Amino acid sequence: SKMDGRGTWRFFEPAMDASLQSRRALELDLREAMDKDEFDLFYQPIYDLQMDRISGFEALLRWPHPKRGLVPPDQFIPIAEDIGLITLLGEWVLNRACEQAASWPSELKIAVNVSATQIRDPRFAEVIANALDASKLDPQRLELEITESVLLGNSAETIATLHKLKAHGLRIALDDFGTGYSSLSYLRSFPFDKLKIDQSFVRDAIATKGSKLIVRAITGLGKSLGITTTAEGVETIEQLNQIQAEGCNEAQGFLFSRPVPATEIAPTILSLRNG
Ligand code: C2E
Ligand code: CA
Ligand code: CA
Ligand code: CA
Repeated sequence: SKMDGRGTWRFFEPAMDASLQSRRALELDLREAMDKDEFDLFYQPIYDLQMDRISGFEALLRWPHPKRGLVPPDQFIPIAEDIGLITLLGEWVLNRACEQAASWPSELKIAVNVSATQIRDPRFAEVIANALDASKLDPQRLELEITESVLLGNSAETIATLHKLKAHGLRIALDDFGTGYSSLSYLRSFPFDKLKIDQSFVRDAIATKGSKLIVRAITGLGKSLGITTTAEGVETIEQLNQIQAEGCNEAQGFLFSRPVPATEIAPTILSLRNG
């Protein structure tokens, strides 16, 4: 800032201005990308450690931007939420993921991330029903991954929606488990099928005693509640050995495979067969 002629302060904040501008540009691009169908889904295998085989894939949204390159979901999903585009985008994801999974061997599940705003949309149950109808995918093969933010405020309506979906055979996973607030109370409000242990704990489970104990506690919790536990972000053999020793049911991470495009699903299944 500097003094102007009349003795008052004028503030020049070019950095803030630039970031506001680039945010606006990104918003416009997002809307355009939606119109032009520019999004893509990648798929990361989830490995069943007991059965020693892939149990399914998680769908992960990708935005190959014509000029910016690949924009990571952490950068554009929050914006899509803000500008009210997430409902439409989420619907696209559900349709595409179900359609894709319907062509896979029937023992493979598909996990789809759904945001809080999406679930609160009154049309959500209908969107799911439509995606299942159109793809003819068995509802038992569809798993929704939600974060604690969905349950924040313990909305009776949201819980009712989740119960309804579960009654139709869908599975519900609690994502990033351990990173939110008062996680344990959520386990009382809703009967989850799966807890996904956040990758921050998995990453530190070798070096840090605290993280190792958290992985152990979550796995034990899952066992006593009869809920599947999945370790996210497994990158090394040491981490795999560790989470296996703790009794995690499933693992997911770069050690097995990075998220791959739909065309690489068959080769990924082959490369992970028996080992
Ligand atoms: P998430 O649901 O926790 O997904 C796991 C993220 O960890 C993915 O990042 C995945 O690529 C990454 N990952 C997997 N294995 C490893 C590993 O071994 N090491 C490391 N460092 N990372 C690993 P991605 O694809 O960038 O997605 C980030 C987040 O964006 C997701 O976190 C999810 O919250 C959100 N997201 C992605 N797709 C969708 C979607 O279709 N809808 C919604 N609502 N959110 C989505
Ligand atoms: Ca997830
Ligand atoms: Ca996660
Ligand atoms: Ca995450």
